[in-house]
Amino acid sequence: MSTVNINASQDLICATRAIKNARHIRSVAPQVFPAVEPLEGFASVVPFDVLNRFHRMSNDELRSHNLLDAATKLRQASPAGATSANLGPIFPLFKGTVHLAKVSFNNDGTVFTFSDADMATVVQYLRAAAPAIIEYTKQYGDCRLDVAPTFLRLNVDVHQGKYNDDNLRGMVKTLLSQNHLPANGTCIVVFNPDGVVNTDGDGSKGIGGYHDAVDGAPYCFCNVGGSNFTVQDRQNHYAETLSHEVAEMVVDPLISFLSPEVCDPCAGNCNFKWLSFFEKDSSGAPHYLLSARKVPPPPFNHDFFIAAVAKPGNVNQCPPPESGCNYAAPGDKPAPGQLKTATGKLAFLRVHRLGSGFGPPTDFIDVEVVIGIKGATGAFGFTLRNDDNQFAHHGMLDLLRDAHKADSVVEVEYTLPNEEVGQTNGTILRVTRRK
Ligand SMILES: [Zn+2]
Repeated sequence: MSTVNINASQDLICATRAIKNARHIRSVAPQVFPAVEPLEGFASVVPFDVLNRFHRMSNDELRSHNLLDAATKLRQASPAGATSANLGPIFPLFKGTVHLAKVSFNNDGTVFTFSDADMATVVQYLRAAAPAIIEYTKQYGDCRLDVAPTFLRLNVDVHQGKYNDDNLRGMVKTLLSQNHLPANGTCIVVFNPDGVVNTDGDGSKGIGGYHDAVDGAPYCFCNVGGSNFTVQDRQNHYAETLSHEVAEMVVDPLISFLSPEVCDPCAGNCNFKWLSFFEKDSSGAPHYLLSARKVPPPPFNHDFFIAAVAKPGNVNQCPPPESGCNYAAPGDKPAPGQLKTATGKLAFLRVHRLGSGFGPPTDFIDVEVVIGIKGATGAFGFTLRNDDNQFAHHGMLDLLRDAHKADSVVEVEYTLPNEEVGQTNGTILRVTRRK
């Protein structure tokens, strides 16, 4: 049996919430699911869409699916006053080490897996991306994310090309015991290759992956297509799904019913996919370049990208406003060579409507205020939007307007996300007026 798991043009859905809901329903209403999970997965008993939205359903809808009783029991067991609308993480965030596992699926004699070179590339990717992921997830609490320098191996037998989450939990437990890894502080990541299907995370249904926990050990599952991976992953074979599941695992390692799924608002789950792009400095530290709905074509040249992590204030919105997904982590600092300065009198000051931006496609800045500085190459701008920067940006506009009127000298500090390919239009971080 051969299947293609990933359609790269499709916005992938994360199945964590659906599986989490299924487990919680089973814990309070065992009659809903059989004691042994069917090989065809939880969604063969209760439709995926119902499982996915269970925690947000009205009582009427819950009743129509015979799930009101389970929902009532879960609400009663929740901390007083907690609702799905006001939640942050309740349990400690992850502090530990992620191990990638190369699982070879022997499907009745045919083995489906990834090459050692591709697994090594993914390890390299995650070691580069982990500090960027942590900058975002620490908005939710204290956390740590180390990545093991080598990957684990496991051979498993499957039949008819399929297995389910129960089988996957068995693999995770075997990997922990065979490698003498503690459940507490270890997260195992399993990649599913084309050719076999995890019925609880079926890639042909648009599911990219999910994360869960077994016996106190968090794990991530990712559908991954293709081969000859790169860290840059322009084809998005693995980076979006892997970073999504790992970031969510960090915030909710033990799958508490009330903890948020921090990537879902900015993903296919809410039809609002955002990716965050980074470059590394000479020490390997990541620096945010920009956010985009998909991987920008060359000449844009990132080192790696991750799935966007929603801001805590937007995590229960589906979809949130753009500012909840399209942002640099609060602690992100421009690289030493990234921050540039231009000084002089203004050549022009322009303000325009949202979305018009400035510059040709290869040198485009998505901003609403644009200035030119006499004697300086390129133009410089910033946004005027309803986000965390709105008051600072209005202040910058006032300052520029005064400088324009008085014909006085300004100094702007700006970044060029794509300088190596000749970008000259920059994004302003600071404006200083000189006498
Ligand atoms: Zn998710």
